[in-house]
Amino acid sequence: MKCLHCNSKDIVKRGFRYNDLGKRQLYLCRKCGKKFTPGLRRHRYPPSLIFKCVAMRKGGKKLKDIQNYADNKGFKVSLWTISKWHDKFKYSRSMKNK
Ligand SMILES: [Zn+2]
Repeated sequence: MKCLHCNSKDIVKRGFRYNDLGKRQLYLCRKCGKKFTPGLRRHRYPPSLIFKCVAMRKGGKKLKDIQNYADNKGFKVSLWTISKWHDKFKYSRSMKNK
C-alpha cells in the first residue's frame, strides 16, 4: 500500500469513510499529510487507455470489443465505464486523429 499522492509507504490507518460502496479504510500519509482511500480515485485508468477506448468507440467498435482490448492491456473496465468515457470525451479536441 502506497500513498496515492506521493507514493510514500509511510502511511497510517485513519478510521473509515462511508459511501455508496460501503465502508472503506481511510489512510493518512505521514509524509505529505494527505488522506486517501484506495480505489476511489475518479480516474484509475491511464489517459492513454481512455483515449484509445474512446477512439475505438468513435471508430464504431463494440463496447465488448473495447472491453477486451482493455483487458488485454491489463485493465478491468466495465462496459458502463467505457460508454461514460465516450460520453465525456467524444467532443474532446485531443481525440482527433487527423
Ligand atoms: Zn503522501
